[in-house]
Amino acid sequence: MRPEDRAQELELNEWEARQQAAIQPEPTRESAKWCKAAGCGERIPEDRRNAVPGVQFCIECQERNEFMGKER
Ligand SMILES: [Zn+2]
Repeated sequence: MRPEDRAQELELNEWEARQQAAIQPEPTRESAKWCKAAGCGERIPEDRRNAVPGVQFCIECQERNEFMGKER
């Protein structure tokens, strides 16, 4: 396969992924029971898991992540 073809294929995959995301806006990822942040592992309350579908972090880590995002 030529490099040009490979690039085109990657572009197509990306396009397909975007289409999928547009069709399916709901997160398919399951809410985590435990915080995925390194060094945390805090239990994520049932309420939060229901309120935030696909949530991966506890409230504390989520807030820290958002804060760090604003800093950038
Ligand atoms: Zn956490």
